[in-house]
Amino acid sequence: MRIVFIGPPGAGKGTQAVRLAEQIKVPHLSTGELLREACRLQTRIGTQACKTMEAGGLVPDELVHQMVVTRLAEKDCQRGYILDGFPRTVRQAEMFDKLLMQQGTSIDVVLNIHVEEVELLKRLAGRGRQDDDTMAIKKRLEQYDSLTRPLLNYYLDCGKLHAVNGHASPDQVHAEILQVMHKVSESKGNSCSN
Ligand code: AMP
Repeated sequence: MRIVFIGPPGAGKGTQAVRLAEQIKVPHLSTGELLREACRLQTRIGTQACKTMEAGGLVPDELVHQMVVTRLAEKDCQRGYILDGFPRTVRQAEMFDKLLMQQGTSIDVVLNIHVEEVELLKRLAGRGRQDDDTMAIKKRLEQYDSLTRPLLNYYLDCGKLHAVNGHASPDQVHAEILQVMHKVSESKGNSCSN
């Protein structure tokens, strides 16, 4: 199974992605985590990405794509994976679909964890990560609206998008995700780069 989690910062997608990955036994790949690690280690990608991340901006599409391609080539990803925080722009999704098509595969399901902005602001203010200061939070929510939200239509058009209510408790959100997964595995077949 190849699964993508989409949701604004603070929606709980990281928590849910980890939980589902443990349950269905595929690796959980968070581009945010990979980038923070690259930053810490000052790799070539890290040195280019750090400042943008701290300011709440999005790292250039090509750079993230390259990082994901490298990670997905590893053996543990051959059976499937959960992508958390990627794709984050329509361009990333297009580049990624092209790559998957060349490999004769495709994404199976896209989960959109939906949470209203008032609730997101409350959650993010209490989180205390380096990129969680007020200005950066605002910027990240703006970036989500302008660059990531259009992705929802992209995946909706090919019948892969499934909305999940992120206001519910973590257990309830997880249960809803399992229901979606069940439904998807029963009715496989959609139209983007199949
Ligand atoms: P996250 O942990 O998913 O909230 O990501 C933290 C930060 O990493 C984001 O605010 C971006 O600066 C950067 N980032 C993570 N994933 C991507 C992506 N797919 N495209 C561009 N930037 C990303």
